[in-house]
Amino acid sequence: MEKIIVIGGGIAGLAAGIYARKNGFECEIYERHTIVGGQCTGWNRNGFHIDNCVHWMTGTSPEKEIYKTWEDVGALGEGVDVLQHDKFLTIDQNGKQIHVWKDVNRLEKELLEFAPEDSKEIKHFCKMLRAFSHMEVPAIKPKEQMGFWDNMRYVKKILPVLPYAAKYNSVPLTEYVKRFKNTMVQDLILSYLPSAFNTVSILYMYGTFMSGNGALPKGGSIGIATRMRKKFLSLGGTIHTNKTITSISETNGKITEAYCSDGQIASGDYYVFTCDADATYSIVGRQHMDEFFTKRYADPETYPTFSSFNVYLSCEKKIEELSDMVLFKCKPFDILGSKQNTIAIKSFDYEPSFAPEGKSVLQIMILQEEKDYDLWAKLHENKEQYNETKQQIANDIIERIYTQYPSLQGLLQVVEVVTPYSYNKLLGTYKGAYMSFITTHKTKREVHSGRIQGLSNAYIAGQWTLPPGGLPNAVISGKFAIQRIIKNK
Ligand SMILES: Cc1cc2nc3c(=O)[nH]c(=O)nc-3n(C[C@H](O)[C@H](O)[C@H](O)COP(=O)(O)OP(=O)(O)OC[C@H]3O[C@@H](n4cnc5c(N)ncnc54)[C@H](O)[C@@H]3O)c2cc1C
Repeated sequence: MEKIIVIGGGIAGLAAGIYARKNGFECEIYERHTIVGGQCTGWNRNGFHIDNCVHWMTGTSPEKEIYKTWEDVGALGEGVDVLQHDKFLTIDQNGKQIHVWKDVNRLEKELLEFAPEDSKEIKHFCKMLRAFSHMEVPAIKPKEQMGFWDNMRYVKKILPVLPYAAKYNSVPLTEYVKRFKNTMVQDLILSYLPSAFNTVSILYMYGTFMSGNGALPKGGSIGIATRMRKKFLSLGGTIHTNKTITSISETNGKITEAYCSDGQIASGDYYVFTCDADATYSIVGRQHMDEFFTKRYADPETYPTFSSFNVYLSCEKKIEELSDMVLFKCKPFDILGSKQNTIAIKSFDYEPSFAPEGKSVLQIMILQEEKDYDLWAKLHENKEQYNETKQQIANDIIERIYTQYPSLQGLLQVVEVVTPYSYNKLLGTYKGAYMSFITTHKTKREVHSGRIQGLSNAYIAGQWTLPPGGLPNAVISGKFAIQRIIKNK
């Protein structure tokens, strides 16, 4: 039986492993961390569960083609409840609130009442969201294996969005929001994603949520990863954790062996790299990097990435009104020299197992740019200062939450702080990036070939191969790697 070595046990690696076993390959996953799941993870701290990933997962609607992939890998399907919230987020300013409702008619009605001065643009925005709720991620086979009829079927599905995509791909979000006079409506469109994204990205995201295809699998991030791990093991796969692949040997354009930092040798017929793409090329050698990645790493202005600074707080009572993300303006505070005046907060009250009875765990997420990652990495050289800074920022955030929600005064405690550097330290993630390259107004949605140039038995998958990444792109990229191996046999 031919054997596939998978490097990296995130969602892409687990998916590759599962499809490898389903297609009759022997398969071993090598993962550098102590557990699999990669960025899709959670852990327990002081009696609370820290869910550090999924806010929404594309593919929860059985009507969309990606659902079948999630079902194949055991993340969704029989026995897995999906939580569909009635709103995605709330903008809360000066005692007024507006919401991104799942029901687009409700969103439109609320916005029209709230900002009649923007009625023309609001109607147009909601019309576009209705169209984008038809959007699909092509998830059945890789692009190069799609024939004429596959392409036609896909184009037919996304036909309603094509005119808008053509027009708004090249419009920066920051430009688009200027069409609205009301600043809270601007914030509703601008606040969730980093401002470098293009307008289509927010239309796609809210449209997906509104279609019922972007919800929350029960058990959160660790639930998704654990079910996939179990599926892989039940199919007879092998997982090696605490194993960092650092180098390979190659003969005649083929990998012959891969080596772990502790000397263990991983040997197979095919090698699928699902670890971070930059880490992949440091393992196989930069001479194997193709134009897709060379141009992206060389030009971070055109191809930026982003990360986040996350604070987790325990709360001595339940706060159900924060079960969906709430964004509020606050007195400015400082994160390594950059001023922040908005806090995005949510509680995990919808998952009873995440906090002891009658208590809550709150997440505060502040988006970070590549330059912030560099500062965190530098600061980490002095661990004491790094830890003090994290605590100081967390305290500043708590103070602002007390101002916004006086009833919480004295009830909050810091349980965990995650910086952009944490992702690099634990998972080897390039610039601590949360997802992959941002789809800006200057970039097209290009996909990677999934091959590593100059190495005929090496494949690459993971969020970096299908920007802008995220869980759906990770899972399908893992499947695509195995389909490519089968096709090229
Ligand atoms: C805070 C946060 C919130 C997010 N929210 C969402 C969300 O709501 N919805 C959504 O769709 N996505 C979300 N994402 C993004 C999503 O988690 C990722 O896109 C996805 O999990 C990436 O999966 P992956 O397998 O491609 O990569 P990774 O998760 O990075 O997995 C790569 C794996 O390779 C391992 N590895 C690295 N180097 C080596 C090596 N040398 N040897 C062996 N193993 C190695 C790593 O340890 C890791 O386990 C979020 C991410 C973060 C951080």
